Amino acid sequence: MTSLDASPEGSALTPDGWVEGRVALEGERIKAIEGRKLPKGATPQAPYVIPGFIDLHVHGGGGADWLSGEAGIRAFIRYHASHGTTAMAPTTAVGPVARIEEALAAITAIAADRRAGEPVVVGAHLEGPFVNPKRPGAMDVSLMLAGDPELAARWARQYRIAVATVAPEIPGGRGVVEALTRAGCRVQAGHSVATPDELAHAFHWGCCGFTHLFNAMTGLEHRAPGVATYALAKAEYAEMICDMIHVDPLVVLAARRAIPRLYAITDASAAGLPDGEFEWGGRKVIKRGGRITLMNGTTLAGSAITMLDAFRNLVQLGVGLDEAVEMTSTRQADYLGRRDLGRIEAGARACLVKLGPKLELKGVWIDGQSISPAVSEPEPAPAA
Ligand SMILES: [Zn+2]
Repeated sequence: MTSLDASPEGSALTPDGWVEGRVALEGERIKAIEGRKLPKGATPQAPYVIPGFIDLHVHGGGGADWLSGEAGIRAFIRYHASHGTTAMAPTTAVGPVARIEEALAAITAIAADRRAGEPVVVGAHLEGPFVNPKRPGAMDVSLMLAGDPELAARWARQYRIAVATVAPEIPGGRGVVEALTRAGCRVQAGHSVATPDELAHAFHWGCCGFTHLFNAMTGLEHRAPGVATYALAKAEYAEMICDMIHVDPLVVLAARRAIPRLYAITDASAAGLPDGEFEWGGRKVIKRGGRITLMNGTTLAGSAITMLDAFRNLVQLGVGLDEAVEMTSTRQADYLGRRDLGRIEAGARACLVKLGPKLELKGVWIDGQSISPAVSEPEPAPAA
């Protein structure tokens, strides 16, 4: 049982604004927000108590990744949880079908059996293999598959998949989008060169988001609108890697103006690892500073950040604390239709983060239980 003493104190961001006081917990849930409501526009004082971060696109961290088996996946999600990510969708990538199935089975098992120190697993993010070899990013073209609606439907039946990245324009793409949508997954266009017409159809079939906006998709050519242009013009939701390396900070701000519910992801592969060469998804990669690339030194291969870094990066860009919370937690919960996550209100799951005046991590609560936060001083965003 959680004692009342464990209830976090500080300036809590609720759907109605900031409240200076205490978030009272009861078991796994938030019982009440007690204290003085700040008038709109008033500056809250640290420490800040905010909804725990939600990462819907994260492949690994702390030396393990989606290919590391159930124990490894539990380790990598714990790594992110210790940095304040209290809910996530562990993300597969393009790989041999048997390895993808192994990972989906492990993630499904973990989602049903959360252990101490682990975040809430909302389901897997299936990134590929039904994507377009014309926009592989760091993924292996030879393992990409044409759309296989039966395989997709079987996976969605057998495993818990919350989010899926599909290139709707590939052969069989329509069947995959429809099968996954029917099963309740949020299907996003990504690793794609779809035309605006093809995207309009895909959204009619059930597609509802975009995967790492600007990365591994056609872009913003003003007389030849690509996937990113379509997203800026039409999208309600899109994810964006907020390491300030994958997308220039100015472009992050431009996208934020255009897309009402733009949200941050890490796409982390090697968060928490020292510089050097290592293997990721069966491929050799190199990490230098905040940058991870294939051995060619230019193709980015995931990020080295946590959601806490994404949050700090956004604040450093001039995004207000309230909106940074929206972009790192609330919108993700809304996208999944999860009213129990991503907000501090009575009845919601007690998944919380406490930050000091420099946004240093002071506490993490998952389902009402306090876990020990990683010691991490804020660092300036790496130069893009
Ligand atoms: Zn990814």
